[in-house]
Amino acid sequence: MGIYEELGVRRLINANATLTRLGGSLLAPGVAAAMEEAGASFVELESLQRAVGAEIARLTHNEACYVSSGAAAALTLATAAALTGTDPALRARLPFTDGMRNEVIVHRHTRVGYDFAVRMVGVRLVEIGEPGRETTAAELEAAITPRTAGFFLFPRCLEERGELSIETAAEICRPRGIRVVVDAAAQLPPRSNLWDFTRRGADAALFSGGKGLRGPQSSGLILGRRDFVEACAFHGPPSAYIGRGMKVGKEELCGILAALRWYLNHDEETELAFWETIVERVIAEVGSLPGVTARRIWPSEAGQPVPRAELTLDEAALGRTRDAVHAALLQGDPMVDLAAGPGTTLIVNPQTLYPEEIDPLITRLRAVLT
Ligand SMILES: *Cc1c(COP(=O)(O)O)cnc(C)c1O
Repeated sequence: MGIYEELGVRRLINANATLTRLGGSLLAPGVAAAMEEAGASFVELESLQRAVGAEIARLTHNEACYVSSGAAAALTLATAAALTGTDPALRARLPFTDGMRNEVIVHRHTRVGYDFAVRMVGVRLVEIGEPGRETTAAELEAAITPRTAGFFLFPRCLEERGELSIETAAEICRPRGIRVVVDAAAQLPPRSNLWDFTRRGADAALFSGGKGLRGPQSSGLILGRRDFVEACAFHGPPSAYIGRGMKVGKEELCGILAALRWYLNHDEETELAFWETIVERVIAEVGSLPGVTARRIWPSEAGQPVPRAELTLDEAALGRTRDAVHAALLQGDPMVDLAAGPGTTLIVNPQTLYPEEIDPLITRLRAVLT
């Protein structure tokens, strides 16, 4: 009996996205072995953290890297670093920030659900911009006060255009000592994002290790400028300050390095071609059912270059609502989760599907929809 069966927890076919609540992603080949090896010896954790960081920085063409316990932890550490740099007295005062730089500027319309990871450091968010038009440099300049510590960008959906470019943000912020941070947690693929955001001027780009990278679910990367990454490490575990609860173990450190090596070596084109075949099969075999129409949509909800199959349900013809179909898919064993899209749509995302899951997924979709 497997561990999930023993615990009475159903397995899940994830055709939704690299969602943390569904387990993020599956470990890439070689990651579990690296974690097991790491778990078999004591090691001085800070030396390991530094060595892994240096190797990941080299592989991703960044000055420096700090491994965090996830992208949300990376947001907290980056915020703390933007506020205090490496000043020990200021670090010890967090999350009380009276008299410090304690404002972070964000775009109003691209805020995601991770604000708390920034605000918990004692920060006030200052909003600029609105949907449907370009944010101007003048707006950013007008929002800057003597208390501004950072400008955080959450590049997500292509329809959320209008964000100030990283280049312009860096031009305005750098001379004022304001840190530009890109939350790129789910922005893989393309792998070039591992270096593009920082090449374009961001002090750091933050990635989830448990999403596209297929590393340990509780890992993340802070990639960027040496002085800023060092300030993040200054707040991070194992030092006993604001990041102490965001521990990264030797197993995660070696695991995320193995995942990153796998990620940089695997063939992005082959993977994309595989995803296209899944989308085609779903459209042909599920979209042909009465009461269902299907089409390929692109890019994914996080703006990634990943195709998806969008199923539009004719609720009257099917005699059940989209939500009832969605719920029925979650009833089985294994559970099947798709994304609920606009209107009466359900969306199949191939990014988190594995070859042996395709037949069971299609069989289950056809069964629930007929
Ligand atoms: C998933 C996500 C996070 C959180 O990442 P974790 O690695 O789960 O901590 C933060 N920001 C965005 C935009 C995300 O998609």
